[in-house]
Amino acid sequence: MLLTSLQRLRDHFNSGITKDYSFRKEQLKKLKSSILKHEQDLYDSLYADLKKSPEETWVAETGFVISELNATLKNLHLWMQPENVETNLLNLPSSSKVLKEPLGVVLIIGPWNYPFQLLINPLVGAIGAGNCVVLKPSEFASATDAVMKKIIEDVFPPEYVLYVQGDGSTVIPEMMNNFTFDHVFYTGSTVVGKIIYKMAAEKLVPVTLELGGKSPCVVEDDANIKVAARRIAMTKFSNAGQMCVAPDYVLVHESVKERFISAMTGVVKDFFGDKPEQSYNYSKIINEKQFDRLTGYLSNAKIIFGGRTDRQQLFIEPTLIDNVNTNDAVMKDEIFGPVLPLISFKTKEEALKVIGQHPNPLAFYVFTSSNAKENDWLNSVAFGGGCVNNASWHLTNHHLPFGGRGFSGTGNYHGKYSFDTFSHKKAIMKTPTWFDPSIKYPPLKGKLKLFKWVIR
Ligand code: NAD
Repeated sequence: MLLTSLQRLRDHFNSGITKDYSFRKEQLKKLKSSILKHEQDLYDSLYADLKKSPEETWVAETGFVISELNATLKNLHLWMQPENVETNLLNLPSSSKVLKEPLGVVLIIGPWNYPFQLLINPLVGAIGAGNCVVLKPSEFASATDAVMKKIIEDVFPPEYVLYVQGDGSTVIPEMMNNFTFDHVFYTGSTVVGKIIYKMAAEKLVPVTLELGGKSPCVVEDDANIKVAARRIAMTKFSNAGQMCVAPDYVLVHESVKERFISAMTGVVKDFFGDKPEQSYNYSKIINEKQFDRLTGYLSNAKIIFGGRTDRQQLFIEPTLIDNVNTNDAVMKDEIFGPVLPLISFKTKEEALKVIGQHPNPLAFYVFTSSNAKENDWLNSVAFGGGCVNNASWHLTNHHLPFGGRGFSGTGNYHGKYSFDTFSHKKAIMKTPTWFDPSIKYPPLKGKLKLFKWVIR
């Protein structure tokens, strides 16, 4: 049944209908109006799944995607144009250009933490680039999953955008092992990312992997501590820390550690009050499995503030922990929750040693007032993307490519980068027939000197 549906997508793509500019534009407009029609349903479902406020939902989910849609609608025509490029001496008087061609039938797999944004934002790029799409949401954000199904099925026939629900470990292998996609775009954990990569490799299907990891945040001795605390707390405790680019841990220069702790304590109180479980601004943990994993980190920890939990409400207080050792469980895996370990350092080398235990983080943040230190840090750590004196906001600028490297992923997207991810760059050389010198044809003997002059 599923395979028949996938074959229908292939037939639909082969019909050529999705390639036309006006078709693509029309579909993007339809998607936008369907999202806006279901705006309230999305507020309700994201509250049910993660206790997100409408404001947070607009910034990180709905509005985020609407902004991507608007940018794509505005620029799509330009992005689709063939790119004329130079032709080298060897090939003159040929001309050369790069055509942007849709990939075909692509699979987009989403996680549960930003269930709407992380499934629908790549869809914008895939539609803009002229593909047929299979969407596989996470089964763990079930309320949002149900709304997204409506949003998609209200406006798209299944032979164009197919919405596939269910247990990822069953339904994804069923599709990937029996059907050859032209691209797989996966967002989720590194563990599952490896499974996806292996299945794709069997059929040589190209992938984009948007994975996680331990993203470090460095607070230097010359940082504006008040601003650093606000910005770190805002990102780390938004969505209760269930954010791929949240600072996983903070490396704070020992000379400013006490000031930083005091600023963080004040800021968290300002943001969420004495009872964050009752705060309009504070989310819940997605499910019991994640709750149990996260509370496990707290059992032997030296808690500076926070630490209260309630399994019934899936609540974990914003928590700062001190004297963390790199051998502690909390420093082994990505935390992905509202628990922030603090590690102090004296020298940059010391801090680099800690960072080096988890190479290629998705994000990296440095707080400093010195340009020299900023450049030094940016050049010393290999990471996907990041910020100076800020945390996570780089991902909201669609002019920047968003993605990891190595363990945190491969490929990138957002804005034009999404269009490029879902397009093939077809290289074309056109050679006039009026000029066809015999010099390049056999016999070649005696032409080496000339070839050395032309090819250099
Ligand atoms: P996950 O790996 O559990 O699930 C993601 C998707 O994979 C879901 O749709 C699920 O159905 C599917 N899946 C699960 N098991 C599978 C299997 N065995 N075979 C095939 N598919 C399977 O990830 P998650 O827990 O939903 O998300 C959390 C992780 O995602 C964190 O590590 C986080 O850092 C990362 N993440 C990365 C980004 C990014 O943009 N780089 C964004 C959000 C989350």
